[in-house]
Amino acid sequence: MLLFNTAVADVFYKQATTCPHCQSKHFSLINNSKLLRFTILPVAPLSISYQRQCDDCGHITDVPWYSLPVLEIISFIKYFIGLLVISYLLTTFILSSQRQSENEIHYLDTPKQFDTYFVLSEQFTGHPKRVNNLKVAQLIEFDDNTMTFRVGNYTYKYNKDIEIAMRTSMLVQDNYFASKTITLTKQQVHNFYRDNIIYKILRPELYSLFGGFVMHPPKPKPLYTGVKLDKNNQQGITYFKDGLYKEAIESFTLSAEAGYSWGQLNLAQMYRDGQGIPQDTAKAAYWLNKAAQQSNPKAKIELAELCQSIDCTYLE
Ligand SMILES: [Zn+2]
Repeated sequence: MLLFNTAVADVFYKQATTCPHCQSKHFSLINNSKLLRFTILPVAPLSISYQRQCDDCGHITDVPWYSLPVLEIISFIKYFIGLLVISYLLTTFILSSQRQSENEIHYLDTPKQFDTYFVLSEQFTGHPKRVNNLKVAQLIEFDDNTMTFRVGNYTYKYNKDIEIAMRTSMLVQDNYFASKTITLTKQQVHNFYRDNIIYKILRPELYSLFGGFVMHPPKPKPLYTGVKLDKNNQQGITYFKDGLYKEAIESFTLSAEAGYSWGQLNLAQMYRDGQGIPQDTAKAAYWLNKAAQQSNPKAKIELAELCQSIDCTYLE
C-alpha cells in the first residue's frame, strides 16, 4: 500500500433538495474533492469540488464551497486530520528528544553509578572497530575529576539491538562486560558527548531499562567481624563480577587481613591491575607473597610473574 496517495473525499453532510430538472427530491450533495492522504488519513485537500447530482435524472450542478451547507463547511477540518496528527507526533518527538538531551546533560553533571551510555566503540575504547561499532558502557565509579566505565564485550549495528539486549536482561549476564575498565576525565567524557561518541545516556529506574535488568539490585554491605574467613572473599567475588570494585576491594581486604590466601590473591590482583584503586605493584607483591607463603599455588605463579617486572628482593 502506498503511504501517500490521492483519493476522492466523501461528503459529510449529504443534504438533498429538489432537482431543478425533474423535480425529484433526490438531488443531493456529492463531493469530488481530491485529497492527499497518508495511508487512510487525509493530509491536505488538492482540490475542492462539490456538486449536486440527481439520483433520478442524473442532472448535475456545481456548488461553490461558500454556498455549501454550514455543516459541510465546518467538516473541512477532516481534510487536515493527517496534518494535525503528523504535527502532533512531530512536536511530541521534538519535545521528547529535547527532554532526553536535558536529562543527558543532567546525568553528565551529576553522575550516578550504573548510568548507562550508548557509545561508538572504536572512538570510546580506542580499540579498532570490528564489524559493528555500537557498544554499551556503564558508569561504575566516579569522583570529582574522573569517571570509570565498564564496557560491554558485544558490539551492535543498530540501537534497537542494544534495546533488545537490555530488554532481555543481557547486561546482567556473566561476561557481558569486559573486566578491564576505562577511566576518563570528566572533560574527556564531556568531549565525547559533544562529539556524539557518547550518543545516548540513560539512567536505570528500578535497576532496569526497557523493562529488563541492566544491573543487579544492590547487595548488603560487606560483613565485618565474626564471619568465616572466606565469606568476605565470596562476597568480594560477587561484587567484582557486578563491577562494584570499591565494594570488592573492601571485602577482599577483610578476607586478606583475616589471613585467607584466596582473598589475599584477589586483593593482590586488584592492586596489580589497578581496578577500583590506583595501581600499586608493591602492595600486589606484598599480598601475593602472603598468599604464596600459605602455599596458594596460583599466588606463587602470579608472584613469580610479577617479580619479573618489579624488584621483589625485599620480600621475606
Ligand atoms: Zn432530476
